[in-house]
Amino acid sequence: MAKTKQEIAVTFWGVRGSTPCANKENMEYGGNTTCLEINVPRTDEVLILDSGTGIRNLGNKIIDRPGKIRGRIFITHPHWDHIQGFPFFKPIYGSKNHFSIHMPDQGKEGGCKDILDGHLTKTFFPVTLDMIDANLEYITQPPERLEYKGYDVDFMLANHTIETAIYKIFIDGKEIVFCPDNELILKESKKSDYDVRLEAFLNGVDLLIHDGQYNRESYKEKKGWGHSAWEDVVELAIRLNIKRLFITHHDPDSDDKQLGALDDHLEEEYGSAFEEIGLAKEGYQINL
Ligand SMILES: [Zn+2]
Ligand SMILES: [Zn+2]
Repeated sequence: MAKTKQEIAVTFWGVRGSTPCANKENMEYGGNTTCLEINVPRTDEVLILDSGTGIRNLGNKIIDRPGKIRGRIFITHPHWDHIQGFPFFKPIYGSKNHFSIHMPDQGKEGGCKDILDGHLTKTFFPVTLDMIDANLEYITQPPERLEYKGYDVDFMLANHTIETAIYKIFIDGKEIVFCPDNELILKESKKSDYDVRLEAFLNGVDLLIHDGQYNRESYKEKKGWGHSAWEDVVELAIRLNIKRLFITHHDPDSDDKQLGALDDHLEEEYGSAFEEIGLAKEGYQINL
């Protein structure tokens, strides 16, 4: 996949929720857990969202770039499927490289550095944070809009089982929302404060990438697990005039046949309501 220096391009490197699932019947949509790359025009800095196992392939793609590799990784939350690939991202072992790692505060569990430190202890993995050669900066991200090189990032907290960010990226007038873990509870009647804030945050964005691990039938057994039914995501996205919708965080037990059938259904049933709608697929690139 060619890197489009002057275009905003979003690439899926991992689209699974919960756990990697490298079965042959999953290879079309991919078996890696959550990781997204956004190409920001006019900069060589990499912008990455989440560091599930998909980040390993991204690291292997950029590792041979000449000179220093610099960038930021915005982690939505520290559940395994969003951080497990972090120590396999080869650029963090290059002493000239520089990365800022962002994560929302985890309350009494601590901030970004505390969480990664706790994850990378000798009991669980041979590499600890102090063995990583790159210059790493750990940022406990506040829920407010902040400016970076070529883009801004805002976040609000998701409805999930721990403090989880829904990140909104602003680049050259485009708005991209990444929300891989969020339980939508659509109500006919009175909206909660969270519903009101979420709708304002998502309203009219150019691209929404949202959790749709379940369907309305399977969701009945999974209420409170922190994930959404795809039907609820589509309904909300239509109501909020979202231009492009991609559903992600696929269940590891959903195989290519099931996902392919759902992808076709989304296009046939709702294609006219969006500029683009579909399921996130590993390796797929969206150009904005
Ligand atoms: Zn997840
Ligand atoms: Zn989660």
